[in-house]
Amino acid sequence: MIRINENFLKLQASYLFSTIAKRVNDFQSQNPETEIIKLGIGDATRALPAACIAALHSSVDEMAADTSFRGYGPEQGYPFLREKIAQHDFQARNVDIAADEIFISDGAKCDTGNFQEILSTDISFAVPDPVYPVYVDTNVMAGRTGEFENGRYQNITYLECTKENNFIPDLPRSPVDLIYLCFPNNPTGATISKADLAKWVDYARKNKSLILFDAAYEAFIQDEELPHSIYEIPGAKEVAVEFRSFSKTAGFTGTRCAFTVVPKACKAYDSKGAQQSLHALWNRRHSTKFNGVSYPVQRAAEAVYSEAGKKQVAEIIAYYMKNAARIRQEMDLLGLDCVGGRNSPYIWIDAKGDSWDLFDNLLNNAGVVCTPGAGFGTCGNQYIRLSAFNSFENVEKAMNRISRALKK
Ligand SMILES: *Cc1c(COP(=O)(O)O)cnc(C)c1O
Repeated sequence: MIRINENFLKLQASYLFSTIAKRVNDFQSQNPETEIIKLGIGDATRALPAACIAALHSSVDEMAADTSFRGYGPEQGYPFLREKIAQHDFQARNVDIAADEIFISDGAKCDTGNFQEILSTDISFAVPDPVYPVYVDTNVMAGRTGEFENGRYQNITYLECTKENNFIPDLPRSPVDLIYLCFPNNPTGATISKADLAKWVDYARKNKSLILFDAAYEAFIQDEELPHSIYEIPGAKEVAVEFRSFSKTAGFTGTRCAFTVVPKACKAYDSKGAQQSLHALWNRRHSTKFNGVSYPVQRAAEAVYSEAGKKQVAEIIAYYMKNAARIRQEMDLLGLDCVGGRNSPYIWIDAKGDSWDLFDNLLNNAGVVCTPGAGFGTCGNQYIRLSAFNSFENVEKAMNRISRALKK
């Protein structure tokens, strides 16, 4: 008899996006003339940088001739891309990460989800609340949690991110083995200082824990003092793995390219307490289960680091940050408390009540779609997330409509 992995039955159906879609559809059918503006999405809307498009065209042409055709590439990624990443994203910031510590992949979603596979199933782990759901669900699938009760899974340490702690979670009271952190944060848009991040690195070193640091929104950081990488903290290489992506940086959400940094110095242990290499394990897992990102896409990612590419990426980020500033300006005028939007494309707004009530209010009275924070965890129940991923014209229109609707 073929049997299933029953851990999958513990997963909560994600009603969030289906419920949003249903309410939006109902509203649209009753108000066919209203042009709905979607500020709920976490998806890029600007076209790929011209430098990436040029690299795509020329690499596709290479594939068209036998003499320059490429078949299977290295599973870990082509050296041309790994070297550029090491140089521009790390060494240029005085962070000593080598090209062979970088694993190219088709997404930070997959990598943040898959990384737990090389860790024991009986470890304890902590996730932020509110949280990017991938960290939680993949651990549920792996059997690291109990049942779901009262909005939370048993056997997860939830790191509460609230107004009281400036959306930077406090260290867990009892030791945990694995910790997920995401800064700049999705969904809150909050950032972490070097001093606060150093506390987590110290904690991990003292407790022999591992930090999985999701830096997918690193490119949105404007404040010079904020760390772009956890490896800017001394000692982090021994206790942290970092995830990056070209998705939000350069609009690769549909093109697919990301990378994971597993330093050779990163420590983990077997059941006898002997040190084992996470780098070796991840290399084995990655090369067994993944066959590399396509050659043209890796060439497109490489172009992000060219002079033209850097300039074009900076323009895209600046465009979204102008949207974010406009959103924050309107929220401030309306007297709504919010975080984010200064070093991230998300603004996390205190709904002063149930997040679905504000969602309905904005939809019905302003024709604007947001994401109710309840979909990201218990600590999101009183918040909504607005995203800066849209055209400036639409953001401007949305802010004017929200202003009119909420001042009534
Ligand atoms: C968008 C996002 C990613 C990136 O995912 P990709 O699979 O690389 O597109 C990773 N982490 C968070 C928190 C995100 O919001």
